[in-house]
Amino acid sequence: MSWDAAYDVAWKCYRRLVDHGVILPTLRSDVCLSRSAFPVREDYRGFDRLNDLPNHPPGGSRIVVGGHEGKNSNIYPIVTGIEIHVVGFHWQSDAAGVITLQPDAVDEPSGEGLFFNFEGGFRASCPHCDTDIELGGEATGRLDDALTAWCKAPVASKGQTALPCPQCSRAASLQAWRSREQDFAAGYVGLQLWGQHLLTLIYQPDHPANQPAWDVLGGDMVDPSPAVVYCNI
Ligand SMILES: [Zn+2]
Repeated sequence: MSWDAAYDVAWKCYRRLVDHGVILPTLRSDVCLSRSAFPVREDYRGFDRLNDLPNHPPGGSRIVVGGHEGKNSNIYPIVTGIEIHVVGFHWQSDAAGVITLQPDAVDEPSGEGLFFNFEGGFRASCPHCDTDIELGGEATGRLDDALTAWCKAPVASKGQTALPCPQCSRAASLQAWRSREQDFAAGYVGLQLWGQHLLTLIYQPDHPANQPAWDVLGGDMVDPSPAVVYCNI
């Protein structure tokens, strides 16, 4: 997705989440650890999907429920808030509570559009040959360069940042590099879910039980297969 489309995509996403009864049309600071997010309505049931989690989900943290390791079948994800990140814009609520999407001040960017697991780095895979580059690993130099170039680029041209593959030598947009372990993505629009037991929702994004939730979250976004990134905080 290009930056030209980001505003419309984010605004449509907000409208869709409100219209489907997922979020309240207001910003609140008590549903997340960041400045504010849209609160998920308490009567929204679309996230109440059960998934059988593996005992060893990616990231290495074991799931323990009620002291019984591996008994994962009774965990419901609880989503309390949703942030809709748009590079170059931030959400604002006026005195009457009307929500608008405002351009960032030049010297106050609200986000860079880089989503990754803050614990322990990440690996990104070449979209052409599936070769991984690990942050801090052998080919980290070119990954570092691409991440730096992305951050330094003006908002509208971040999407032109290319990362050449050390294996097949083909360059692809940083946005096209994905992570098998679901711990890295670059892009102009991102949704951040706040809550508990979210791994049950995101561990198997392709699982049919999760489809209704992804349908309402992703809607008609241009990219039919959103990158799923999880972070522990
Ligand atoms: Zn490659």
